[in-house]
Amino acid sequence: MTDLEAHVAQKGRKELVKQVRAQINALGIKYIYYQFVSVTGRIVGKGVPADHWETVAEKGFQLVYGSTANLFVDRRKNYIGYGPEASELVGIPDPETFVQLPWDKRVARVFCTCFRNREERENPGGHLSSDCRGNLRIIHDEFKKKHKGLHLRHGCEPEMMWLKKGDNGLPDGGFSKPNCYHIDQFESLRPVFMKVIEYAQAMGLDMIQGDHEDAPGQLELNWMYDDCMRTADRLTTYRQICAQVARENNLIACFMPKPFMGVSASGCHHNLSLWTGGDDQVNNLHQEKLPGQKDVFSYRKGGVNTFMPGKGGGKPGQIGLYAIGGVIKHLNALTAIGSSTVNSYRRLWDTGFWAPVFADWGYQNRTCALRISAPGRFEYRSVDAAVNPYLMAGALLKAFDDGISNKIDPGEPEERNMYEAIAAGKKVKKLPMSLGEALDHLENDKVINSALPGDMMRVFMHYKRDEHEKFMATVTNWDLEQYWDI
Ligand code: ADP
Ligand code: MG
Ligand code: MG
Ligand code: MG
Ligand code: MG
Repeated sequence: MTDLEAHVAQKGRKELVKQVRAQINALGIKYIYYQFVSVTGRIVGKGVPADHWETVAEKGFQLVYGSTANLFVDRRKNYIGYGPEASELVGIPDPETFVQLPWDKRVARVFCTCFRNREERENPGGHLSSDCRGNLRIIHDEFKKKHKGLHLRHGCEPEMMWLKKGDNGLPDGGFSKPNCYHIDQFESLRPVFMKVIEYAQAMGLDMIQGDHEDAPGQLELNWMYDDCMRTADRLTTYRQICAQVARENNLIACFMPKPFMGVSASGCHHNLSLWTGGDDQVNNLHQEKLPGQKDVFSYRKGGVNTFMPGKGGGKPGQIGLYAIGGVIKHLNALTAIGSSTVNSYRRLWDTGFWAPVFADWGYQNRTCALRISAPGRFEYRSVDAAVNPYLMAGALLKAFDDGISNKIDPGEPEERNMYEAIAAGKKVKKLPMSLGEALDHLENDKVINSALPGDMMRVFMHYKRDEHEKFMATVTNWDLEQYWDI
């Protein structure tokens, strides 16, 4: 049996395919987007009329291989395997992710897992290693198996900016004045965020809070944490929703980490905890309550949070400390995934905005890459809003595995604010401070690059090296100002 056949034959999947058909009929869905996420975090896929649901659910749809990486945008480099000679991939929908689009109720979307074509000579029907969702599922399953059911629950805090469109279609400043937590400014964005919340709730995100952040038009809206795959899917959905609300309001929904100098950047803190047990039978088909489904919003509940401090409070539980130890050890390589664009490093370099560049952990120390923000979880702060959340969760699971398996001691928490430490003449350990440097670390870190197996590492490196090299070859306004009259 090929991986593709095994995926289609999963226990309970046939029943879910039927439930989706019932929803298509009940909700009047006419068209379905079959989508997956590229290595660079972009949403790609195909649209198919809903009549064909059963056929696509069983046989999948075909797409050119390079779409997993957006690689065909680069026609200057002849990259073997992604050019005109590339083979096709097969996308198989995961019915539990089926959901109606609230802005056009005739349309639904479903996430897919990607496989090699059945006709391919090498590993026909095998998992496509450059599919980040499929990879995260495999990595998480292996982790659970090795660590007796321990699993990752994750809640992210995406910040982003609502920007006006200039005459040239590019961003032209923020939609509201910058002032963190300012209710009047939050109010000025009400038409935007109320629409986002309405769409998000309709698509299964249990929205829990929101605020205006430090930069012009900058909002953070949070939803309830869950199993890491569902959180990654929901961040992808959230970006899609923001893009839709931007279209409706002729605005730009900007997830670029640092569009403006001298004001805060957009981060995407990852809040993490490892649990045992709990209810794993949740279902995302939430528009209508399904038989046996208790809540409209479903997320993994119950179980034991191994990060919780013991009696009397204090340090996280032992598993939590080892997990932190693993992340600290691999922080340099993880930075290539959490700060994955050239622009990400503007966020780290523009000091004075609590940039989390201290390669250490602490309690309420916001200059550290890792912070224990509340009992039972820690917050990985250097991740920014451009992150591919599937790659990030996979890489973090590999770091956790190393920390737990090898009992890595994270050392004592760092209590110094980094600016004070530097001012006092202390030597501090920083994250890699450029994309090129971070990519070198990723290449040399066997543990973290095992989160990008097979072709994934080749694709990621190709794309990201290319991005960095193009940037290095670009003459900017800064060059001109600096050197014009030398
Ligand atoms: P901050 O105080 O850093 O601004 P927020 O309150 O904005 O944090 O966001 C916290 C996020 O962490 C939310 O998405 C929440 O659901 C999530 N979260 C809470 N507890 C846990 C946990 N045990 N494991 C993972 N995520 C969690
Ligand atoms: Mg074609
Ligand atoms: Mg927050
Ligand atoms: Mg914030
Ligand atoms: Mg935070």
